[in-house]
Parts: sequence; C-alpha cells; structure tokens
Amino acid sequence: MTAQRAAELFRETFGEEPDGVWSAPGRVNLIGEHTDYNGGLCLPIALPHRTWAALRRRDDRRLRMVSAQGDGLVETTLDEVGPGAPGGWAAYVAGVPWALAAAGHEVTGFDVAVDGGVPLGAGLSSSAALECAVAAAVSDTTGLGLLDSPAGRTALAAACVEAENTVAQAPTGGMDQSAALLATAGHALLLDCRDSTTEQVPFDLDAHGLALLVVDTRAEHSLVDGQYAERRDSCEQAARELGVQTLREVPLDGLDAALASLSGDLLRRRARHVVTEIARVEKAREALRADDFQRLGELFLESHASMRDDFEISVPELDTAVTAATAAGALGARMTGGGFGGSAIALVRREDADAAQAAVEKAFAEQGFTAPACFVVAASGPAARDL
Ligand code: ADP
Ligand code: MG
Repeated sequence: MTAQRAAELFRETFGEEPDGVWSAPGRVNLIGEHTDYNGGLCLPIALPHRTWAALRRRDDRRLRMVSAQGDGLVETTLDEVGPGAPGGWAAYVAGVPWALAAAGHEVTGFDVAVDGGVPLGAGLSSSAALECAVAAAVSDTTGLGLLDSPAGRTALAAACVEAENTVAQAPTGGMDQSAALLATAGHALLLDCRDSTTEQVPFDLDAHGLALLVVDTRAEHSLVDGQYAERRDSCEQAARELGVQTLREVPLDGLDAALASLSGDLLRRRARHVVTEIARVEKAREALRADDFQRLGELFLESHASMRDDFEISVPELDTAVTAATAAGALGARMTGGGFGGSAIALVRREDADAAQAAVEKAFAEQGFTAPACFVVAASGPAARDL
C-alpha cells in the first residue's frame, strides 16, 4: 500500500502515466462521539494509514475508476452521477467531482487508480480517506488550488461530506473528512461542528513516553444501517422537545433541568450522552494543553461508559478491548467511531503497549471472538500530493 503501487495500478489499467499521486489519511477520534451532527465538538487525529489515488485528468466527462481493494474497473460519466449512482465503492470516488461541480467548481472527467492502506469498515474512516485523496487530486489537476489554504481544505471537506451523504448515501457528520484534510502531525484536531472552526491541539505522545494503541475488533460494523439514523433521530427529537436547534445549546450545568423536561427515559439517556460528551471534549483539550494524560485517560473511560450505557452503541468486543487494556495498565480506553463494532483506542505507557496488546488478544481468544488487529499510531499529516 504505497503511492508507487497506486501509480503502478494506474499504468497497468490505463496504459498511461498518471498526472500525479495524492493521498489522505484515515483517522481515530480521541473523544467526542456522535457529537458532530449535534453541532458539538470532536477531537480526531489523522492516522499514519493512508489511501492513495493516482489520477489523470481527462478532457471529456468520463470517469474510469479502479481500486486495489475493489472488484475491477468501474466506468461512468459525470452526467450519470447522482444520488445512489454509481453504487458500491465507486460512489465515494465519483461523488467527489459531482459535489465539487454542485458547489460551483469547473470539473472534468478523470481516470483514477486507488490503493488503500486504511482498513475498510473498521471505524477508521477508509471512506473519507478515499474521498479526500480523490478530492486533493481533482483540486490540483483542475487548478482549484483548494489544498493551499485552510479555507480551501474546509471547502474540499464539505464536498466530500456531500459526496458521501448524497451519492454514497451514507449518513456522516463531517468529522472524518475534516480530519483527513485538516489534521496535522503531532496534533489532534479540535473540530467545532457548529461553525466548522478548528483548533490544533498538541498531541505528541512519544514526547511523553506514551502511545496510542488502536484495536480493530473486526466485529461487524456498518454506518449504512438503521442504528446511526435512529441515534440521529433521537437527538433531533430531544432538541425539538427542548426548543433548541441542536443539543450543543444545552449547557452542562443546565443538563438536569433539560433532561427532566424530555418525554422519556430513552431520549434522556441519548441527550445525556451528547451533552456530557461535548463537555468531555472540552476537558480533554484542557488536559492535553496541561500535559495531564492521567486525566485524558479518565475522560476516555467516562466516555466509553456513556456510549455503552446511555447511547448504547458499544458491543461486547469493544467492551472487552476496553476492560482488558485497562486491566493491563492503560491510562484509559474507549471505543471510537460510530459504534456497533469498529475500533477501540487505549492510552498506554510506551513500555506497556505490548502487554496491553497481548492482554486484549488473550481476552478476545477467551471470549471466542475473531482475533483483533492491534497497532500503535502517532498523530499524522493530512491529505497531500505524494508524487
Ligand atoms: P470506514 O469509513 O469506517 O472504513 P465505511 O463503511 O464508512 O467504513 O466505508 C467503507 C467503504 O468505503 C468500503 O465498503 C468501500 O466501499 C469504500 N472504500 C474505502 N476505501 C476503499 C478502497 N481503498 N477501495 C475501494 N473502496 C474503498
Ligand atoms: Mg466511513
């Protein structure tokens, strides 16, 4: 999985040289889950895992797409792209020029070869990595220049969200695309989803003798199903009952009164997760600014409990990963991403990383779960041109 492999796949498939190779990273969210569509805060880092797109601009409106992780060549034209079309993985590619055109940019067709190094469907955002790599390539090859400024990158992220929501028809709130385009090495990206503003928060674990262990549980996971929509609907209903635009407007110190006026226990628990989770992101930012990693670990654990008990998006594999890592000395651990599978993260002392990983693998084996994939990650860089 490299830029060179994407370029090779391009040559093999299309018999020509690509104009260049661009890439974008997957992400893990440190804290702030299901807050994005509530106008809240989240705190992702870009992963060292990336997806590469070797792309050559065409003079016509054809789109020809191939992926090392796909199933053959997909062909369409810009005029045929729309809600639900094309289907499958190509939607995440073709949706990007479609959304850029809808935003008023001049785009053309292209040939593209993709090679992805972000595990697919593991909650690490392979979909946004794919969209954003393509968006970076389209921006550069058509002279849009959107990679050159934070405002341009924010506009590219918005187009990628539109591609995923409308063409791939997967509901997604915007964190993934912002992380892929705006997160920088050695930092977490504090993203305020109310106004799309961002702040770089130092996150250099190596300098503090710490490490972030990611556990891909390999449990079933899909955002394109009813669970995500149900949580989103519950949050919108709670906001309506409270007479606010989004749950972001409910202050932590007014939470009890707000909860008392909601129409049922389910809505109360959903709203409590969102409001306390947004507050935990703010506390995490303060902890990081103060180098207080003990506190960050506590916030991880509080966040996990809230997702497990109030938002009900955890599964036994995620709970097992969190419990086992914590028992093996992690400062804290939590599930990350949309839930119902996917990945967990654990904040560990560097010298404990191997033991924490072994403890998680042992616990999974004892429970009869599929073996997890574990890796240590550092906060990495955003979408860029590689070749
Ligand atoms: P996640 O973003 O957490 O990995 P999603 O369900 O949002 O999970 O996106 C996964 C989908 O993205 C895959 O099923 C596939 O359609 C598409 N995808 C991501 N990366 C690639 C790739 N390298 N090649 C082909 N399709 C990809
Ligand atoms: Mg995704």
